[in-house]
Amino acid sequence: MIPDEGLRGMTIQTGGLNGVSWEEKGGSVLLEAEAGVPLAALLALSIKRGWRGLEFVAGIPGSVGGSLRGNAGVEGRALGDLVESVLLIDRKGSPRWKNRKEIQFSYRYSDLLAEHKAVIACRLSLARAGTAEVALRARDFFNKRVGQPKGVRTAGCIFKNPKSGFAGKILEEAGCKGLKVGAAEVSAQHANFIVNNGSANSRDIARLIFICRDRVFEKTGILLDLELCLMGEFLDGEVGH
Ligand SMILES: Cc1cc2nc3c(=O)[nH]c(=O)nc-3n(C[C@H](O)[C@H](O)[C@H](O)COP(=O)(O)OP(=O)(O)OC[C@H]3O[C@@H](n4cnc5c(N)ncnc54)[C@H](O)[C@@H]3O)c2cc1C
Repeated sequence: MIPDEGLRGMTIQTGGLNGVSWEEKGGSVLLEAEAGVPLAALLALSIKRGWRGLEFVAGIPGSVGGSLRGNAGVEGRALGDLVESVLLIDRKGSPRWKNRKEIQFSYRYSDLLAEHKAVIACRLSLARAGTAEVALRARDFFNKRVGQPKGVRTAGCIFKNPKSGFAGKILEEAGCKGLKVGAAEVSAQHANFIVNNGSANSRDIARLIFICRDRVFEKTGILLDLELCLMGEFLDGEVGH
């Protein structure tokens, strides 16, 4: 999330990095995708060609680059599990392919940007299966999202699940459901989602996030860690990354 005033500095639009290619060998597939390719496009291709591995991304909006950076996933599966290698560029613009073994992935984390500045492309390892099987598995993952708010304006989960449980349940038990700042409201359906009911600005949303975090800390001693990236400057002294 960025402040309504924008960011100080340069931003890169990766939508033009939209190349996809693949190599099928026996039962395996090496899929190469550039950073701007939407996960949904990769999943659609996987279903069409009957490749197994990416079904869990059903319902996760985002591009390859952003999703690798945060190791997007669900239910113990994440994009990093499929990575064979990632093409990165450093501050000087020099490209370098990094192998899986050189990259650390964990829950909603990768160290891809520790020394580098951007993800350019990746190679993912998938398995050949059948279209019907892959489509069914993708639908199963999508259907499991039934408890998440739909058809509303939301950025997805705000906090990571701590080791002690699910962030949504912890937030709900701390009484966060229904809290509001302006038109920003903690979803009555799932307490780890904030919904913009119309005119909420980025500061309203950031303020509500910090109210929820503080409330959980006061009630439980758990300091929830953000899953959402706050970029730029938010609230007095609260600086994103
Ligand atoms: C309804 C909903 C449901 C969601 N469900 C899930 C879920 O189940 N699991 C999950 O993990 N996430 C989920 N998300 C969050 C989000 O969709 C994912 O985290 C997604 O992977 C973000 O990708 P993006 O391309 O939108 O990244 P952005 O949000 O645009 O960027 C995220 C970060 O990555 C950086 N970045 C983007 N591209 C690059 C690049 N090429 N190189 C280097 N850095 C880059 C950005 O600067 C930013 O810091 C959900 C979101 C919504 C709205």
